[in-house]
Amino acid sequence: MKLALQKKTKIVATISDLKCDVEFLQELYETGMNVVRINTAHQTLESSMKIVENVRKVSSKIGLLVDTKGPEIRTTAMAGNAGVEVAAGDTVRISGNPDALSHREMLYVSYAGFAGDVPLGAAVLIDDGDLKLKVVGKNSDFLLCEAQNGGVIRGRKTVNIPGVEVRLPSLSSRDVEYIHWAVDNSIDFIAHSFVRAKDDVMAVQKILSERRSRIKIIAKIENRQGVENIDEILDCAYGVMVARGDLGVEVELEEIPAIQKMLIEKCQACGKPVIIATQMLHSMIEHPRPTRAEIIDVANAIYQRTDAIMLSGETANGAYPVEAVRTMSKVAIAVEKDLQPYERQPNVGIRDKVAIVLSKSAVQASRELPIRALITDTYSGRVPRYIAAFRGKIPVFALCYIDPLARELSLSYGVYSYPAAPLKNNEEFLRYAIRFLRDQGCIDSSDMVAVMAGNSYSSGATTYLEIGVVQNLISEINQEAYYAS
Ligand code: PEP
Repeated sequence: MKLALQKKTKIVATISDLKCDVEFLQELYETGMNVVRINTAHQTLESSMKIVENVRKVSSKIGLLVDTKGPEIRTTAMAGNAGVEVAAGDTVRISGNPDALSHREMLYVSYAGFAGDVPLGAAVLIDDGDLKLKVVGKNSDFLLCEAQNGGVIRGRKTVNIPGVEVRLPSLSSRDVEYIHWAVDNSIDFIAHSFVRAKDDVMAVQKILSERRSRIKIIAKIENRQGVENIDEILDCAYGVMVARGDLGVEVELEEIPAIQKMLIEKCQACGKPVIIATQMLHSMIEHPRPTRAEIIDVANAIYQRTDAIMLSGETANGAYPVEAVRTMSKVAIAVEKDLQPYERQPNVGIRDKVAIVLSKSAVQASRELPIRALITDTYSGRVPRYIAAFRGKIPVFALCYIDPLARELSLSYGVYSYPAAPLKNNEEFLRYAIRFLRDQGCIDSSDMVAVMAGNSYSSGATTYLEIGVVQNLISEINQEAYYAS
C-alpha cells in the first residue's frame, strides 16, 4: 500500500515555483503530501499560478493553501544593498517609512507608525532575533536603540517587538491582492499570518464573504497576542497553524512546547484542524537523514494529537524534499499505532451534538469490535471533522457532496475524502459508498465497517450509526458472496 494511504496525520509541504514540476509533485503526493502551501512572501502571482496548475495536474484531491504576509514588519531595502555592521553597545536609529531606503544613519522599517507604537525599554529583534536592540530613547520620528549583541543588519529582514501591540492593519495591499487571486483560482485555504485577535481573521473573512467564497481561513498563531486571544480566534477561523518560526522570536523559546500543546488541545476541543509548522526536519534541507531530536519533535506533535505537520524549506528549497516527506510519513505510521483515541468530546452547539455523540460511539466501537473503516457522507465537512477529533485508529472514508470539501478535509486527521454526486436516499448512499470503496481497494466484502449517515440528505442531518459486515449490510453483495461460494 502507498505510504500516503497508510498514515492518518496530514502533511503540508511548502512548494516554490523553482521546483514544482509535475513529476516532483506526484512523487511527494504518493509519499504522503496532502496539502501544498504557497508562501506569498517568496512568490509572485504568476509563479503561484504555475504551482497551482502543476498541483492540479497531479490530483484534484491535494489541498492548496496560500500563506499571506499579514501584519508583519520588515526592514526596508538597504541603500547600495550592503548590510550595516553593528557591535554590542552601538547606537542604531530606527524610523517607520516603507518607501525609504535604509542606511547606516537610519534604519527604516515597513510600518510608518513604528516610532509611535514602540515604547522605551522595548526589545527590537531583527532577522529572526539574530540581532537584539533595546529602545533607549525616542521622539515622534525615530527610536534610539542600543545593540545588545553584534551582527549585520540587512534589507528586508524581519522585525519583531515581543509583547508590544502595534496598530498595523490586518492586511497589506499585497495580501488583499492575493486573497482575490485565491478566490479567482479556487484555492482551498488562506493561512493568515500574525493573527492577533478575531478582527484579523474577520478582515480576511469580509473579503471572502463579499466574493461569496468558501475558502477556509487558517489562523497562524505566531505572537503572544494570538496565543492569548485563541478562544475568540477559534470562534471564527476554520483551523490554526502553530507557526513556531516567528513564535520563537515573539515569546521565549522554552514557552513554545506548552503553547503548542495548549493550541492542539483547544483545536481538538472544538473539532477544528491544527497544523504544527516550522523546523520539523530542518536539518534535511541539507542532509539526507534527520536528527534524532527532529524525529522526536515530529512524533511528539502526533502524540499531542495534531491533525497535520508541515515542511517549509525542506520541500521548498531543500536538497532532500522527497526524503523529508517520506520521513514524516514513516514517523506518523509508527506513532499512530501507539496512539490511543481521545475520550474528550468537542464542545459544539446543540445542533451538532447528535453527530458528536455518534462519532464518539463509532470510535469507541472500533476499539471493541474488529471494525476496518468508518464510512460517512457530508455536505459541510463537519461530521468527518468531529470523527477526526476523537483520533480513532481506523480510517474515516468520507463521501463529499460539494466539490471543494474533499480538499478541505485534506487537513483533518485520519479522513480520506472522495467527491461524490449527491445521492437520493440512505439505501443508495450505502450501496454506492460500499461499492466505491471496495473498487478503490479500501474495504473488502468480509470487512466489518461502521456507517454514519442520516435520512434527510441535507447538512446537519446525521442521525444514525450502523455497524456490520459489508456483505450483510447490502443484499446484492450478500448474494454475490453466496453465489461465489
Ligand atoms: C512560521 O513563522 O513558523 C511560519 C510558518 O511562517 P512564515 O514561514 O511565513 O514565516
